[in-house]
Amino acid sequence: MSKGIAILGATGSIGTSTLRVVDRQQDRFRIVALTAFGAAEKLRQRGRETGAGFLGLVNAEPSWAKSAVDGRVHGTGTESLVEAATHPDVEIVVNAVVGAAGLEATLAALAAGKRVALANKETLVMAGDLVMAAARDGGGEIVPVDSEHSAVLQCITGRPTVDVSRLILTASGGPFRGWDPTRVATATVDEALEHPTWRMGPKISIDSATLVNKALEVIEAHYLFGLGYDAIDVVVHPQSIVHGFVEFVDGSILAQMGYPSMELPILYAMTHPERVADVGVKRFDPVAAGDLTFEPIRQDVFAAFALGVAAGRAGASAPAVFNAANEVAVQAFLDKRISFGQIAGVIDSALQAHRGDPAEDLETLLGVDRWARETAEAACC
Ligand code: NAD
Ligand code: MG
Repeated sequence: MSKGIAILGATGSIGTSTLRVVDRQQDRFRIVALTAFGAAEKLRQRGRETGAGFLGLVNAEPSWAKSAVDGRVHGTGTESLVEAATHPDVEIVVNAVVGAAGLEATLAALAAGKRVALANKETLVMAGDLVMAAARDGGGEIVPVDSEHSAVLQCITGRPTVDVSRLILTASGGPFRGWDPTRVATATVDEALEHPTWRMGPKISIDSATLVNKALEVIEAHYLFGLGYDAIDVVVHPQSIVHGFVEFVDGSILAQMGYPSMELPILYAMTHPERVADVGVKRFDPVAAGDLTFEPIRQDVFAAFALGVAAGRAGASAPAVFNAANEVAVQAFLDKRISFGQIAGVIDSALQAHRGDPAEDLETLLGVDRWARETAEAACC
């Protein structure tokens, strides 16, 4: 019996890769629900191609609800994300929405006992304690899609967690790895979007250029694997072949490797702890892969990385402030309202102004998120 899948963010980079993975595994999975922000025609077409019974369009014209055909249901607004995530025929929710908008659907899916294959790292950073508690209390589970966290999960699966002493996440270093600091500060939008090893949506591409993405991933790892920040390191690895290392208490290291492609971590998030044959994944050739190199992060050039890790260490609502301020700064940069070099300053100004509210409930966190967005927005003028 195939498993029902909902893809939230089905028109994006991860959503599209997930559709390719499901297409190759039709005996295992069937698409039940798809959502998108505003691309109505693309979503409608993907609905026809996959036979999804539910299509949720967040930013929908009034005509959308009435235009459903062939017994399909058309949902609208942010409620449609929750509707897709809690659909009774859905067992696995692939959350590939970008940004804080994915939070409610993750919480609802976990409360409904679903597996959440989580690409939407922003929501784990914003509300890590709440999300992990929702998984414990609701009977659902979170399995990471992010390649570094998938690597860690693949290395530790079947081993006692007390045996793990340290994680080392790899970072490609982004498009500005070897650049002069003054040149980085004035980098253009097109230069920042040109990632050397991965093809991704615009927000995560900018996060990879600032290395904010890696700070988000350190916080993500802290919540997913329950390790302290002293036990999570990062190393720059420009070839993106080793996705993550796990060090065990005896000093032994395991790593997961492969050519950069999100299709393998997406598939693994859906089948974990099982592995299934997949003809779409390019087989690894160590000789063709060539040299694998490692270097430290230049924290003086990529200041936002250290701000993110410090926010993670501060805990409570500081990671939510970091995430919200970064989302605002990235949008302002993409809109050409601030320079690349100003992104870290905008994030820092929100973190400096933050009073350190707790992060006990959703209402408080959403309030912190709103406040941080307004504060960061004001810093962009
Ligand atoms: P993308 O911009 O390509 O796609 C985002 C999707 O979310 C689209 O379908 C869009 O319609 C939808 N969306 C956007 N805003 C929304 C909103 N307010 N409400 C509901 N839906 C909305 O992004 P992506 O590159 O696919 O990344 C998605 C998530 O996965 C991000 O959190 C990113 O950090 C994470 N991720 C991506 C990659 C990658 O290779 N692309 C790798 C690891 C993790
Ligand atoms: Mg990643």
